[in-house]
Amino acid sequence: MSPVLEIRDLSVDYGSLRAVHGVSLSLGAGEVLGLAGESGSGKSTLAYAATRLLQAPGRVSAGEVLFKGQDLLGLSEQQLRVLRWNEIAIVFQGAMNALNPVISVGAQIDDVLRAHRPGMRRAERTARGRELLSLVGIPVDRLGSYPHQLSGGMRQRVMIAMALALEPEIVIMDEPTTALDVVVQRQILGQMMRLRVTLGFSVIFITHDISLLVEFSDRIAIMYGGRVVEEAPASEIYRAARHPYSQGLLASFPALRGARRELRGIPGSPPDLRSMPSGCPFHPRCPSPMDVCGERMPSLEPVEVSRRVACWLEGVRV
Ligand code: SF4
Repeated sequence: MSPVLEIRDLSVDYGSLRAVHGVSLSLGAGEVLGLAGESGSGKSTLAYAATRLLQAPGRVSAGEVLFKGQDLLGLSEQQLRVLRWNEIAIVFQGAMNALNPVISVGAQIDDVLRAHRPGMRRAERTARGRELLSLVGIPVDRLGSYPHQLSGGMRQRVMIAMALALEPEIVIMDEPTTALDVVVQRQILGQMMRLRVTLGFSVIFITHDISLLVEFSDRIAIMYGGRVVEEAPASEIYRAARHPYSQGLLASFPALRGARRELRGIPGSPPDLRSMPSGCPFHPRCPSPMDVCGERMPSLEPVEVSRRVACWLEGVRV
């Protein structure tokens, strides 16, 4: 799978605090890359920094991000305006609440098209609006509805339709269905993934719920303390996660298949950026720490053909 986005050694700082430490990841064309981790793990910061959506005071302090051969970090504001929505679109958590309550959803879709496709005539925009609604499973006669006349799930589908309006290459989904019940959540994500196959865009899917990532991603990168600690195909993570933190995350969510099992949380709390533990940042919570763990940070190393892990236990296993 050829990469559409390549993140190389990216670091992000908030003032003197480092939130993301030298992360390298790639997103293949048409691929769904899941970013998992508890809140504060750096997953949203990484995705927003890589696509130049990061708000101040966040600042990229090192690295490069290649999109179609050009480094996104070197683009001007003008170039970025063209890039956003056209090439990279985002569906936020609770985006459904970002719809303007006094404007019909059809008019809001029309606004996006008018702003970014000035050559499109009104009839073409209306036709595109109808097409987009039906793409996301909303009856086209809802084009004239106001947001309050739609359910939460439908409003979130409208936001997805708007994100897809300009046929972007990359869609970032940041906890896109967290506010919805589990049935609607899975319906919307299933539909999004089918659209991804039909339309060919790539997805960076960010969520704390690793069971959703296992179901809907091709590959998963698990983050802890601003670092990727394990990266592998979703099926491999589900079959046999190797990093103790990945194992803890998997045990915190109900299994998709097989017998019911007891859910176990991970003891302790995620680290505070202001007082990051020495060595491996997971060592105060790890079930099997060794002396070296509190002293030195393990680097992310390939341990199988398609898996990388940052854990000193890997040296003990060989
Ligand atoms: Fe646990 Fe050590 Fe591995 Fe960190 S490096 S996850 S503390 S075993």
